[in-house]
Amino acid sequence: MSSPVTRFAPSPTGRLHLGNVRTALFNYLLARREGGRFLLRIEDSDRARGGEDLLEALLVDLRWLGLEWDAGPGAEDEWGPYLQSERDPLYAEAYATLEQGGRAYPCFCSALELEVSRKTQLAAGQPPRYAGTCRDLDDEARTARIRDGRQPSLRFRVDPGKTVSFDDLVRGPQAFVTDDLGDFVIRRAEGAPMFFFCNALDDALMRVTHVLRGEDHLSNTPRQLLLLEALGMSAPVYGHLPLLLGREGRPLSKREDSAGLHSLRQAGFLPAAILNYLLRLGHAGAPDGWVEPADLPSAFNLDKVGRAPAHFDESQLLHWQREAVNRLDPAALAAWMASAVGELDADRLTTLAAVAGRNLNFPAEARDWAGVLYGELPPMEPAATLAIQEAGPAFFAAALEALDSEGPDLAKITALVRARTGSKGARLYMPLRAALTGLTHGPELAPLLKAMDPMLLRRRLAAQAGHAGETT
Ligand code: GLU
Repeated sequence: MSSPVTRFAPSPTGRLHLGNVRTALFNYLLARREGGRFLLRIEDSDRARGGEDLLEALLVDLRWLGLEWDAGPGAEDEWGPYLQSERDPLYAEAYATLEQGGRAYPCFCSALELEVSRKTQLAAGQPPRYAGTCRDLDDEARTARIRDGRQPSLRFRVDPGKTVSFDDLVRGPQAFVTDDLGDFVIRRAEGAPMFFFCNALDDALMRVTHVLRGEDHLSNTPRQLLLLEALGMSAPVYGHLPLLLGREGRPLSKREDSAGLHSLRQAGFLPAAILNYLLRLGHAGAPDGWVEPADLPSAFNLDKVGRAPAHFDESQLLHWQREAVNRLDPAALAAWMASAVGELDADRLTTLAAVAGRNLNFPAEARDWAGVLYGELPPMEPAATLAIQEAGPAFFAAALEALDSEGPDLAKITALVRARTGSKGARLYMPLRAALTGLTHGPELAPLLKAMDPMLLRRRLAAQAGHAGETT
């Protein structure tokens, strides 16, 4: 494959969700793997729905994930602009070429006329397609309609009796009969271009060679191939990815918050976790284990992208999140947790990260551990209360004595408690953990003890030893 040019072409009509982020990733990986280029084009030709804020948010989210584009907004080159709303002159040129070559014609049919025609065809058991009413109007007839104040749309003339075939990169050979397509509108009466028209034209003008996109666009492809052929432009090869389905088996939508990239980011998911998760969605080429972001391109194999729909599985995503958290270096771990425990000074944050960081799934969980080390215990788990009751005050009195004589040294404390009470194994460690953290699980206890505010440590043991008021 000679240096592919791929692109991601989102419409800024909502936040990105994992379905379209996967499309972006696969295009990105295809380009990176072969030393090609990855473009970002913003499909905002339907200006009514988009917005500056959504566009900005989209750019920020993609950059956060690490999907940097070689050309696109903020990285213009000679093939730009990369916002469709700034490309009207190019579309106008293409309309003119098609019209002059007889490949497109003005259509004066009103929405009502089209609807009546559609219903009549359906009633006759025929697939609805344009009846050709304005196909062969002469100049005189056109002028008369324009004089009547009728605003025409522009319709592409499809040759009947042909077949449009192409080899889909994912779905294999495809064939569409032109008789099923009928002449289609490429510019609406009010002047706005149709989505699939700009999309095809821009791909060609931007020298895109490979388009991976959702299979909901498969039916656009034959029309796009016809358009590009009529314009004498070379078309990219297309691969239509199966949709990503949400919990109810429906395609993910911009409204599905749990799979929204921004929501995941706010919850504290790490980019590398999301990338590892997406790499495996509908793609069987990835190795079983963790892949570093820099190695993702070589772990991607387009031949291993399947046709079966993929399902969004939060537990899988969480698995990769755990893997990602475990791989953060201490500074990155502290930075990741900082948003949730902003009130801690830098030293305490570093200690907290070192002691508890790798046990967390999300930064918000760091708040409980900040309380354990430096403030209030979170609400006591029932199992922790039970472990404390079973150990009894004498257990904690021994622990307190050991703490006072030996300092916060778990081995020495447990040695003395064992000698005094005969407790061993879980009965020795669990009550200590429970009294000090309010929990029966968590990070290693010895470093936790060392990191804990000494006064809190003493107070928590004293409280369980029955010296409730003691605070020295
Ligand atoms: N703007 C289209 C979308 O967001 C892009 C389709 C394509 O990739 O060709 O679905």
